[in-house]
Amino acid sequence: MPEQDQDCVIAGGGPAGMMAGLLLARAGLRVTVIEKHPDFLHDFRGDTIHPSTLQVIADLGWLEEFLALPHQKAPDLHAEIGGRQVTIADFRSLKTDCRYIAFMPQWNFLNFLAGKAAAMPGFTLRMGHSVTGLLRDGDKPGDKTCGLTWQSDSGTGEIRAPLVIGADGRHSVIRREAGFIVTDFGSPVDVVWLRLSRRAGDPAPAMSHAGPGQGLVLIDRGEYWQCGYVIRKGSYDDLQAAGLPAFRAALAALARLPAGRFDEITSWDQIHLLSIRMDRLTRWWAPGVLCIGDAAHAMSPVGGFGVNLAIQDAVATANILAAPCARGG
Ligand SMILES: Cc1cc2nc3c(=O)[nH]c(=O)nc-3n(C[C@H](O)[C@H](O)[C@H](O)COP(=O)(O)OP(=O)(O)OC[C@H]3O[C@@H](n4cnc5c(N)ncnc54)[C@H](O)[C@@H]3O)c2cc1C
Repeated sequence: MPEQDQDCVIAGGGPAGMMAGLLLARAGLRVTVIEKHPDFLHDFRGDTIHPSTLQVIADLGWLEEFLALPHQKAPDLHAEIGGRQVTIADFRSLKTDCRYIAFMPQWNFLNFLAGKAAAMPGFTLRMGHSVTGLLRDGDKPGDKTCGLTWQSDSGTGEIRAPLVIGADGRHSVIRREAGFIVTDFGSPVDVVWLRLSRRAGDPAPAMSHAGPGQGLVLIDRGEYWQCGYVIRKGSYDDLQAAGLPAFRAALAALARLPAGRFDEITSWDQIHLLSIRMDRLTRWWAPGVLCIGDAAHAMSPVGGFGVNLAIQDAVATANILAAPCARGG
């Protein structure tokens, strides 16, 4: 038996799903967002809030409150390439309210959106629930989607809605179950993330350092440096086999931090491999179902705009679909 009827049900409470849920609920729809994790506390997720996303928050009237959350502002980005300092982005001439990137932990951003959405009467967020499949009007693969199924520690269930949004990221269940065709662009690299302490007197290193065949991104997170070391796709096993001393030495050769800082890396448990994937659906929708964000186009971390494109997808979705959904379309 359907447990609940909604106007829209969204798989995934990342940037795309939370913003789409918030905007559709703000338009008066009954929306449920299903998120498989029990909280938003995932480390090393996209933390770059670009001017386009800040503008959305400004347009919603929440900018002052949002910027009261801890963040670092970057009006421009620099890289060190072959020993030369290069400005790779300068936001100061944009015609937007905020002419900078705000670096903010993604859990703060998502908690902020969740708090705003919770104030909308039609909004429901279910954490710790995993979407498992789609419901269809008939039993043929091409039949209209009319809801989804989920499971959690407390059991299983289904939610019916005329619109299902797949915002469940790069390994989307919705895109798979809808049978969408994926064009895979491949990626020559993966990224390993780690933290190093940031101390008084540290130089303000360029955001990224590119050496021959190697790159290191350093993001100033106030109390620590978030470091992203770029490696050849699939070479993490080789990195581990070479051992931690070799890894520490490779980082020290790239970053202009005191070499002793890398002694903080004492275990592979401190290091997180993020496998990079770049792809795009040839068509993002079928009757009753739409994919947005990484579920529609998995983004490279380069430029740090995947979160921001996901937000733009959510805005476009709400602008185009809120009124027809409200009319029962
Ligand atoms: C190494 C790396 C670094 C990156 N750095 C940046 C950066 O600095 N800045 C930036 O803008 N972008 C960055 N990106 C890209 C960015 O992370 C994504 O483009 C962005 O998060 C997409 O948002 P989304 O909401 O579409 O998907 P996601 O952020 O992936 O959110 C999907 C959500 O769905 C949930 N979910 C998944 N499956 C299910 C299921 N079955 N049921 C319920 N919930 C489910 C997940 O738990 C997750 O919360 C980076 C990507 C990588 C790989």
